[in-house]
Amino acid sequence: MAETLRGVGVSHGVAIGQIRHMGTAVLEPPAQQAPTEGAPREQARARQAVEAVAADLQARGNLAGGEAQAVLEAQSLMALDPELLADVERRITVGSTAERAVYDAFASYRALLANAGEYLAGRVADLDDVRNRIVARLMGVPMPGVPDSDEPYVLVARDLAPADTALLDPALVLGFVTEEGGPTSHSAILARALGVPAVVAFTGATGLPEGAVVAVDGSTGEVLLDPSEERQAELRRVAAERRAALASASGPGRTSDGHPVPLLANIGGPADVTAALEAGAEGVGLFRTEFLFLDNPSPEDSQRAPSEDAQVVAYRAVLEAFPESRVVVRVLDAGADKPLDFLTPGEEPNPALGVRGLRSLLEHPDVLRTQLRALARAAEGLPVYLEVMAPMVADRIDAKAFADACREAGLRAKYGAMVEIPSAALRARSVLQEVEFISLGTNDLAQYTFAADRQLGSVARLQDPWQPALLDLVALAAEAARATGKSCGVCGEAAADPELACVLTGLGVTSLSMGAASIPYVRARLAKHTLAQCERAAAAARATDTAEQARAAANQVLSGE
Ligand code: PEP
Ligand code: MG
Repeated sequence: MAETLRGVGVSHGVAIGQIRHMGTAVLEPPAQQAPTEGAPREQARARQAVEAVAADLQARGNLAGGEAQAVLEAQSLMALDPELLADVERRITVGSTAERAVYDAFASYRALLANAGEYLAGRVADLDDVRNRIVARLMGVPMPGVPDSDEPYVLVARDLAPADTALLDPALVLGFVTEEGGPTSHSAILARALGVPAVVAFTGATGLPEGAVVAVDGSTGEVLLDPSEERQAELRRVAAERRAALASASGPGRTSDGHPVPLLANIGGPADVTAALEAGAEGVGLFRTEFLFLDNPSPEDSQRAPSEDAQVVAYRAVLEAFPESRVVVRVLDAGADKPLDFLTPGEEPNPALGVRGLRSLLEHPDVLRTQLRALARAAEGLPVYLEVMAPMVADRIDAKAFADACREAGLRAKYGAMVEIPSAALRARSVLQEVEFISLGTNDLAQYTFAADRQLGSVARLQDPWQPALLDLVALAAEAARATGKSCGVCGEAAADPELACVLTGLGVTSLSMGAASIPYVRARLAKHTLAQCERAAAAARATDTAEQARAAANQVLSGE
């Protein structure tokens, strides 16, 4: 009897095939002492191995091209990091073998990364992969890597390193299932870039039997072990239907009876513009400007904001790409998982509950002023509908402070507030007295509603955006916007789930913003249902007690026509 299990679907589509596990040799070299007189020879061995692995990663990058190349080049640079190499050599001087020194030096660097916030923690898998490659070379064992197979297969792994995924042949690899990783891990990003279905954070993935047939639904996160022939045929039919629906839906987002729901893109900077345009985004619903600040390359620059002129260039590149369209720019959202040296207090016991987002900006009005001035200059003379919003608005006082700052900077734009804190959803009417629109950041709204850290896999159940309590807060905020004649978008991950997008529409949300890759799926799904059906699905979901029930209840309504 087939068994259905669930992880997190991160790349759409259905893959059916035999399981092949990733080669995962655990390469912990013995901690024996080496005679110190041999240190120079060991140091030379370590250097040679590091250089060979860096060159190999560089070569793989050249072969792969595109997004994968950038990732592999970054890994190659990690291998050549002079501080890491100095640490390896120091450990060898005090008696480590080359392989053990590499292993230990990487372990201490790993701990630093893992504690340095979500973005750097996401690079830990890349670092582990570099270490494994160097250690394997030093020990003379095969490199960890993708299985050898001439037949197409579903690849199962603890996590996937970019060096492996970059060279995967989409004709052979039907899909991925990984034990670790989340929607922002490299497994997910590269699976989407390759266009293969993927499910991550799947507990027990590494225990799945080699060679067994599995069906992976990258849209729902379902993994079906040993599906019957009929079930396989059914899944293929659903996948073909989804593809056909995708191909047939184009143009602006709307329900089948013509209710418009603009589909906007979430971007981190000018580099994301092309994908957004290709997906037919009707504008930008969330420009996360903090990436411009976080990616500041030199150590001196990490101590200050990018100059006003540098900001103008980046903002203008985005604004120019969307003539006659809405572009919603979020001012700097630093702190918690995105700390910035010059803004974020170092000593807070709970940074997610501390001075972050708008709170940081109000404490550093010069940084906010510069950003708003840069936005005003960037928009000058462009036929764009600029909207500017603040992250982490808690109440009307916050909303007023932000609106005042926008006015003082002479910004000709709509001013808005993100609703990411339950207080702002509960009192959305009061917040809307000060601003012209609200946008729901459901990622943080879930985190704060359920007191569940969004970086922690162990509380992922509570981060599920189908949670009825979260839907209640969305409904409250949307109703406040409707009553005041203002708009209420969603720009958290919830908007990227096609069924949930219908529910959000039914709750009264007026636009949806998501990563570009999800736009065609949401557009196709919305086009299948009337507004009244979306409203019924929303009511059915809210009448339940759990995320699971809410999903099932909405799907029942949506599939019942
Ligand atoms: C959110 O919290 O939902 C959001 C869109 O902002 P971010 O994910 O950047 O915190
Ligand atoms: Mg947020």
